[in-house]
Amino acid sequence: MVGSGKKQAGVGLARSADRAGLTDSAGLAWEYAPAPESRDIVTIAPEYGLFIRDEFRPAIAGGTFATINPATGEKLAAVAEAGPKDVDLAVAAARAAHEHVWGPMPGSERAKYLFRIARVLQERAREFAVLETLDNGKPIRESRDVDVPLAAAHFFYYAGWADKLEHAGFGPAPQPLGVAGQVIPWNFPLLMAAWKLAPALAAGNTCVLKPAETTPLTALLLAEVCQQAGLPAGVVSVLTGAGETGAALVRHPDVDKIAFTGSTEVGKQIASAAAGTGKKLTLELGGKAANIVFDDAPVEQAIEGIVNGIFFNQGHVCCAGSRLLVQESVADAVVDRLKRRLATLRLGDPMDKNTDIGAINSAQQLDKITELTAAGESEGAERWSPPCRLPDRGFWFPPTVFTGVSQSHRIAREEIFGPVLSVLTFRTPEEAVAKANNTPYGLSAGIWTDKGSRILWLAQRMRAGVVWANTYNRFDPASPFGGYQESGYGREGGRHGLAAYLDV
Ligand code: NDP
Repeated sequence: MVGSGKKQAGVGLARSADRAGLTDSAGLAWEYAPAPESRDIVTIAPEYGLFIRDEFRPAIAGGTFATINPATGEKLAAVAEAGPKDVDLAVAAARAAHEHVWGPMPGSERAKYLFRIARVLQERAREFAVLETLDNGKPIRESRDVDVPLAAAHFFYYAGWADKLEHAGFGPAPQPLGVAGQVIPWNFPLLMAAWKLAPALAAGNTCVLKPAETTPLTALLLAEVCQQAGLPAGVVSVLTGAGETGAALVRHPDVDKIAFTGSTEVGKQIASAAAGTGKKLTLELGGKAANIVFDDAPVEQAIEGIVNGIFFNQGHVCCAGSRLLVQESVADAVVDRLKRRLATLRLGDPMDKNTDIGAINSAQQLDKITELTAAGESEGAERWSPPCRLPDRGFWFPPTVFTGVSQSHRIAREEIFGPVLSVLTFRTPEEAVAKANNTPYGLSAGIWTDKGSRILWLAQRMRAGVVWANTYNRFDPASPFGGYQESGYGREGGRHGLAAYLDV
């Protein structure tokens, strides 16, 4: 692809040539030709209703809100805003479906529906990828290669469990919990819906799903897929709306189980709302993961892991490797190589297949990133970004690296949830452990070293639900995921993910 659009390095092009470092011996800049994905495959309706009892319907109170393309600010659609009465309706439909259809249905029959959903997701993969990128702002390469295939993989994986629950190690006849209220965030809208729905349905529960206000469209397309798969009415409902809709669902007395992914702040509110009600609860919350690089690490591989750890999905990742802990003896060399690598990242149109960094999901999130990075500077850390031109419209933030960060800085402690890396150093493995664990969170960690024994020594000492070794941000439906401390409790994925939806 490089070289398909060879141009003379002139005044206007010097910046992009510097950015990419892609100049040949004659000083000519090599640019990628545009490779836009077509949006024609998706039909976005001007208005969307709530999905309740197998049909799309307006909210009872008639409210709607707009969902926009964060890369351009363009309004994509008006979406119904569910109120407490809509929540009542959806929960009642879920209860009836659980008692009369889905609960009594043999697991082998439930499995067929889940397999069907997985297959339709694969068949309509391009449509989902384009819609996700338009509504979320993430690069099409990521929605196409990560979000959608992983979402289908979750349905395939849990379809396989549906008729084997009695062999899953939870006793001879594990029972579902009943009605699950599921509230999900905007960073992986379709994938989070799949994480929530697939295990719940496999275990025999019925679901009421509340997608995030800024990214409702793929959940609504998934509702259409449920229809296409012939899923019985009421088994899955999708209630679009903002935080109040989520709160109404969480408070509903006829919900048996709450599953939440999102901020620690809202997670705490949900935990106190659920306390004493007997509702089962899983919380997958924020993180401030350490990505630890030792002096014997394979450097080029580690650089790719650092980039993938924090710049994947614009850093809107709960398990992002947002704190780089690098051994002091190699710190300068690693940071230098990292900066050179970052200068080659391509920020811009998320629909372009060559784009590495897409748009920030919302103005609110952009404000948060801007505020925290300003705090990083005012507290004395050194800020660096590669030269890069931000588009005029939409919400954008350049890849940013802070060096000279100390543990007390806000950028070392708080979840920024953006493309911002804080670099700290250590001298000994013990110091790396102490610094990595010096956080109220505990979702994930990364270790880069040539020594297997060191990986095992360190992994045992990390207070983190997931520890990656010589890789980062790898996900598999068979692998449990979840946190310690303020990163929440309960596990999603694998056999553990079933336990969260069974009365065990
Ligand atoms: P929230 O935790 O507010 O949102 C997550 C989901 O919960 C959304 O569907 C939201 O609705 C809903 N919600 C909001 N308030 C309530 C409530 N009181 N009861 C029930 N549901 C509720 O995250 P934000 O989107 O506001 O992001 C804020 C910060 O949270 C980010 O900057 C980031 O640091 C962190 N975050 C972490 C995530 C993770 O995976 N760990 C994911 C997303 C955010 P709606 O969005 O429609 O208002």
